[in-house]
Parts: sequence; C-alpha cells; structure tokens
Amino acid sequence: MLDLKSFEVWFVTGSQHLYGEETLRKVDEHSKIIAGFFNNSPLIPIKVVFKPVVKTSEEILSICRAANNTDNCVGIITWMHTFSPAKMWIGGLNALKLPILHLHTQFNRDIPYAEIDMDFMNLNQSAHGDREFGHIMTKMGINRKVVVGHWESGAVVEKINVWARVAVARHKMQTMKVARFGDNMRQVAVTDGDKVAAEMKFGFSVNTFAVGDLVQVISQVSDAEIGTLIQEYEDTYDLMPSLSKSGDRRSSLIEAARIELGLKAFLEDGGFSAYTNTFEDLHGMKQLPGIGSQRMMAAGYGYGGEGDWKTSAMVHVMKVMASGMKGGNSFMEDYTYHFDPANPMVLGSHMLEICPSISGQKVKCEVHPLGIGGKEDPVRLVFNAAAGPALNVSLVDLGNRFRLIVNEVEAVEVKEEFPKLPTARALWKPYPSMEVGLQAWILAGGAHHTVYSQNLTTDYIDDLAAMFDVELVVIDKDTRIRSLKNELKYNDVAFR
Ligand code: MN
Repeated sequence: MLDLKSFEVWFVTGSQHLYGEETLRKVDEHSKIIAGFFNNSPLIPIKVVFKPVVKTSEEILSICRAANNTDNCVGIITWMHTFSPAKMWIGGLNALKLPILHLHTQFNRDIPYAEIDMDFMNLNQSAHGDREFGHIMTKMGINRKVVVGHWESGAVVEKINVWARVAVARHKMQTMKVARFGDNMRQVAVTDGDKVAAEMKFGFSVNTFAVGDLVQVISQVSDAEIGTLIQEYEDTYDLMPSLSKSGDRRSSLIEAARIELGLKAFLEDGGFSAYTNTFEDLHGMKQLPGIGSQRMMAAGYGYGGEGDWKTSAMVHVMKVMASGMKGGNSFMEDYTYHFDPANPMVLGSHMLEICPSISGQKVKCEVHPLGIGGKEDPVRLVFNAAAGPALNVSLVDLGNRFRLIVNEVEAVEVKEEFPKLPTARALWKPYPSMEVGLQAWILAGGAHHTVYSQNLTTDYIDDLAAMFDVELVVIDKDTRIRSLKNELKYNDVAFR
C-alpha cells in the first residue's frame, strides 16, 4: 500500500514588513501551530510542513521554486494571516507548478470583544488579507481550492484531507505508466482516444506491449511461486470443489496462478501501475486473466478491459486517493437494468474483472466458461458488492478535450441469488433517479466502463478536475435535465 506520509504539502503564510518584528514573530508562531495541528491530525495522512513566513516577492518566488523542485512536495497551502500585497505573489504564482489550497481562516475563532485593540487588528487581518490574495489568483486565472472556516473545525480538516490525497494522486499520475496488452476491442469508440493528448494533460503515458512478451514472462514462473500463491488462494477464498487439490479443474487454478504471477512480474519490472488487455488478443495465453486482474486491482493496480486505458489509469489514480480508507474502488461496467418501477436498479459487473476490494462478503473462487474469446475457462472471484453510497466515474475523450463525469449512486444490498451468473456484481440506484441519472449520463457521453468507488466522494473528483483544469459533469441529487443540457452547451464554449 502507498505510504501517504512520504508525501508533503507545504504550509506557506504570507505577510509583509509593514508591521514590525513583534507582529511577524507572532505570525510565524501562529502559522507553526496551525501547520502542526494539520500535520498531527490523524484525519490528514499527508505530511503538512510549516515554512517560514514569506514577506517579499523574492521570498515568495524562492519558496515556489523550492516547492516545484522538491520531489515529494505535492502542493502548497497558502494563508494570509496579515495583509500581504498580492503583486508580490505574481512572480511566485507564475513559477509554481503545484496545486494550491487557499485556506481562508484566522487564528482566533471568535472576536475577542473585551480585548480587541489596534495591535490585534494589526495582526489578525485574514478577512481582508485573503481577499487580496484571492483577487490576484482570480485575475491570473489560477485554479485553486478555497477552504473557508476556522482551522480547528472538522469540515476544514476534511477538505484539506481530500485535497491533499488528490494532490498525491495528481503527483503519481504525472509519472504513471500504463501498459497495454493488445489494442482496443475492435470498432469500440469510447475506450479509445488520444493518448498523446492524455499524456500532455495528465502526464501518464500509455504504451503497448506484445502479448507474446507477456506470455514469455508467464512461462518463466516457477512451480514454487505457483504453489505459494495457490496456498494464498486457498487461505483467502472459498474455492469451488472442482478447484480443490483433488478437483478435476485444479489445472485451471494452477494456470490462473501462473498468469497472475507473470502479469505481476511484467508490471513490476516495467514500473507500470496500470494495464489493459482484451479478449480479442490473448495470443499464447491459455485463459483471459480473471482472478489475476482482480487481485492486481486489489493490490492497487489500475485495470481496464477491452483496451480501456483511460479507465485503467483512473482506477489506479482513485486507489491512490483512497489509500488506507475503508471500502474499495473497482473497474466496473453498467451491465443490465432492472426497470421495475417500484425498485429500479442497475446491475454492474464485468465478464471477469471486478476488484474484490468492493466485496461485502467472503469471496468465492470459481471456474466457468466465458463464451467469448475462444480460450480455456478462466478462474474468477465471485461476490456481491457491499451496500452504501458510491460513485461511478468516467473519463472520456471528446476530441477537443477530456471530460470527467460522476454519477452519485446508492448501492443496495444484493439479496437475490444469481445461480447462473458466475461474475462479481453490484446493484445500485443512480441519483437523482433511474430515469434522470441514466438520461444525464448518456447526454454527457459517459462510457459504459467506469471506476466504481465506495469510499471517495464527488469532492475528490472535483479537486482532481480543478488541478488539471478538466471539465467535470456531476450527476447527483440536484441534477435536472434542462439545466444539464445547458451546462453541456456552455462547457463546449468554456473548454473550447
Ligand atoms: Mn467491458
């Protein structure tokens, strides 16, 4: 699992020399207390590093350049305890390559009616100092997150937590490598797109690798490694009898373990954090990877079926954001609908590749025919996803730009039996309703593949979209089709 504490955000407080040494000493002291509070909060898993108060254009430029050049610094939090004339910030902000969170807070929560005097007024100026700073960022067209409230409040801490996690994900995204085994599923539009534009926008690279080279690595896996992994399967999952030691399908399990170990070795050796494959190009592989892809996802890798590199990248990125959180994130596909007016729902699944991190129960390990691809029966993990609030997230390429789409949904407990469906599955109700949610998704051009998340909220995707200046369409309880249609039209102009 990713160690979020190995990343840091810098806490940078702005001021100026106007107020004298005593005031600046207090500014420094207060900033240290606030930064320390965030750094020590168990609710913020990223390091928050106090930086000495900046008072001149030179100091501001210098700290922005230093932040850019510090490899594990993923963003800066700014706060103006006093007034800090914002022309001083232009050079630094022009140089800064990292996300900014503008914390609009003040050291004291309440107005100290009995004690307030001119010294207090000299020191505690955030209410107007932060406005000066906000103005220059708006004028410069800088995307940033503005968080308002007293620094000790739970809501402020949570917003910093979300932003800092997303900043780590952005940082990882800039150097992430996605491996493609085989091309897109033939003729499919939405899983394709401009890989060069994606690398320019998000930083992640997508390159193809011959399936034969993967098969070569798979064939070199040792029997001892396979034995150890099979033991892990047996310890972790309920194996169907035919996969047990004396079962007549044991050889399928051995082959599945071999494929998983080969995949893992290939991805680790190449420094990849996500991959795609397609059932149309498995030359030399005996099974389409089922349990292998499911377990690679559970280990944090991104996966996209049928060559879907955008969803694969997003699976990994969202797993980074959610590091250490309860619940899971998985590759997902809207499979079929339950249009019962009394209880409308979507059945989400894929032919094999759903991540067991979203399971709400003991996971079963089974082998069944696939029906497409013409290969041997793949071993897969079968389970029902847990109930609760969730998101479906899609990244699409519209030709002139990327669009992120979020649909907030409510997953329901799967009570029905699916005796003949040998795949993992989830049942959910889209917001604001089945009809409007699906209508909005289709109008927005959302894909059939998504990242399904149990532990992230729309705020995470909102922060990600802002950091990359990418369009975000949110479908939630407030969505109305007429206004959504207008929003899509306006966005066509705004993001041209
Ligand atoms: Mn698919």
